[in-house]
Amino acid sequence: MPLLEFKGITKDYKLGKTVVRALRGLDLTIKEGEVIAIMGPSGSGKSTLMHIVGALDTPTGGTAFLDGQDLQQLKERQLVTLRGKKVGFVFQTFNLIQTLSAQRNVELPMIFQGIRKGERARHARELLTKVGLADRVKHKPNELSGGERQRVAIARALANDPEIILADEPTGNLDTESGTPVLEMLKKLSVEDGKTVIIVTHDPDAAAIADRIVRLRDGCVVAGSGYEGEGTSGVPSAGRDVEGSSLEPSTLGITTEGSDSHA
Ligand code: ADP
Ligand code: MG
Repeated sequence: MPLLEFKGITKDYKLGKTVVRALRGLDLTIKEGEVIAIMGPSGSGKSTLMHIVGALDTPTGGTAFLDGQDLQQLKERQLVTLRGKKVGFVFQTFNLIQTLSAQRNVELPMIFQGIRKGERARHARELLTKVGLADRVKHKPNELSGGERQRVAIARALANDPEIILADEPTGNLDTESGTPVLEMLKKLSVEDGKTVIIVTHDPDAAAIADRIVRLRDGCVVAGSGYEGEGTSGVPSAGRDVEGSSLEPSTLGITTEGSDSHA
């Protein structure tokens, strides 16, 4: 059974009397542990798709199964539980709380899950060590570089050990130098921890680490809607699909320790 199975998904936004059709019959299947790059022009529905995958919003039509659960059948409370436990979000603008240390930012999602203080602190430090920031736990966001902030955001996304990581343009505000460790980190989550990682991106380097590129246009998937062996579309391997990439998939997912992970 695929982790995610979307068939004929539509999403309409009503603005007064106008209806914006953001998704228009989108098909997408994703299996556990895949790294997916979602690409497509601005306005093609990428963020809308991410919101539905992340149970932040529900589709207008079609069938959407996430981990065997029919998203259309879930009540708001169940959607909240689903996204709290199964999904971790990473945003282009990091969305960290400026007045809190890196450690406290990572602790936040655990507070909502009712984890006790001591355990939260321990786990947050463990996650920050995992993303190479063991020596930055007390730093506030404005005392960190962009790349470091995004790695704090990844640690926060991992707080409740979700199966799925959703990253909407995670390197959009970073230069290549700080973006590369962020991408390596996301790849590593799939390779080492078996997480499913879905990245919306315009960045060829991000697309190069993906197992598959899903292309959207006008609210539909125009390429890469199914995985290999599923018998849908035969899409070339993601790495070969992108020109001018500085990242070799073979160099990724092996190690990102070292740089600043020593306490
Ligand atoms: P992308 O992320 O690919 O740029 P979006 O999913 O954000 O695209 O948007 C798809 C379409 O839906 C766009 O035309 C956008 O203007 C519209 N849209 C997105 N969110 C909303 C909303 N909350 N209300 C109304 N229209 C929206
Ligand atoms: Mg978007």
